[in-house]
Amino acid sequence: MKIILKEKKKLFDDIYEFNFKSDDIVNWIPGQFLQYYIDCKDDGRGTDRFFTIASSPLEGIIKLTTRFSSKGSSFKKVLKGIKIGTSLNVEGPWGKFTLIDSYITKKIFFISGGVGITPFRSIIQDLYLKKEKIDITLLYYNKTSEFIYKNEFDKNNAIKKSYIIGSVDKISLLENINVLDNQNSLYYISGPEGFVKTTESIFLNDLNIYKENLKSDFFPGYSKI
Ligand SMILES: Cc1cc2nc3c(=O)[nH]c(=O)nc-3n(C[C@H](O)[C@H](O)[C@H](O)COP(=O)(O)OP(=O)(O)OC[C@H]3O[C@@H](n4cnc5c(N)ncnc54)[C@H](O)[C@@H]3O)c2cc1C
Repeated sequence: MKIILKEKKKLFDDIYEFNFKSDDIVNWIPGQFLQYYIDCKDDGRGTDRFFTIASSPLEGIIKLTTRFSSKGSSFKKVLKGIKIGTSLNVEGPWGKFTLIDSYITKKIFFISGGVGITPFRSIIQDLYLKKEKIDITLLYYNKTSEFIYKNEFDKNNAIKKSYIIGSVDKISLLENINVLDNQNSLYYISGPEGFVKTTESIFLNDLNIYKENLKSDFFPGYSKI
């Protein structure tokens, strides 16, 4: 399947978003991802990557948001330079990091580390555009004050949000989740692998949240927040 680049935006020094259009992919469940193929030299890490669709289908675009490192992979070097009008091959959408059917009856906590915000941006934007009001609290951890999509979240009064500069730990989770609860709450965790593993371990071992109330998705290839 093909997607075509319509817009490329620098959000921060190392963060870019790419907005694509496609006649092939018009629908997905917010939180799902695509597999992207790029014609680049194989540096041992392969010539394809997975990226969450950071937009809602209602926006009519496929948004890819990513971080570029100074010593980036061949894939990322080519991705950064693609020009408007470039067409890429993708497969998907796939993935189950989406709202469960009973979400409406639950309190939902989204716990994001850095660029792990992408599935939450898609879900939150989708509910916002549908004017659906559900009980969502976003706990957004980042190394610096450069929180991706903060302006959009701040305009959305339907969600509660906390922006936390630094690493995830038990104290900050307790401070920002007023009542920890295994009956009515669901905890979604997204970010680099180290962030997700640490957060899961705190929930399971220190806060006694049951595994069935946690849903997580990690992005390989990034260091810990
Ligand atoms: C389901 C899913 C959804 C995802 N969604 C997103 C998303 O929305 N946004 C997103 O940004 N990522 C997402 N990812 C992660 C994404 O697929 C990449 O793994 C990630 O962006 C890192 O890209 P990269 O490997 O090209 O490395 P880079 O981003 O270029 O570099 C990352 C780190 O690896 C180091 N590195 C680079 N090349 C090498 C090398 N050859 N050998 C050793 N180290 C190297 C760099 O110095 C840097 O520290 C997702 C992954 C999955 C599985």
